[in-house]
Amino acid sequence: MDKKLLSILVCPVCKGPLDYKREASELRCYADALAYPIRDDIPVMLENEARTLTQEEREQR
Ligand SMILES: [Zn+2]
Repeated sequence: MDKKLLSILVCPVCKGPLDYKREASELRCYADALAYPIRDDIPVMLENEARTLTQEEREQR
């Protein structure tokens, strides 16, 4: 993922910062407990495409 692109991405729900998880290929918003998938290097910034973080993942931040 392009660092420049990452730095301008925010959560579409709360407009907050996202945490890039390379191993999971997703961007996480801890405020909303949502993870946005990255498909073919394209972040899918749609709330209805995001999955909910588990309690364990929320504590990993
Ligand atoms: Zn958010």
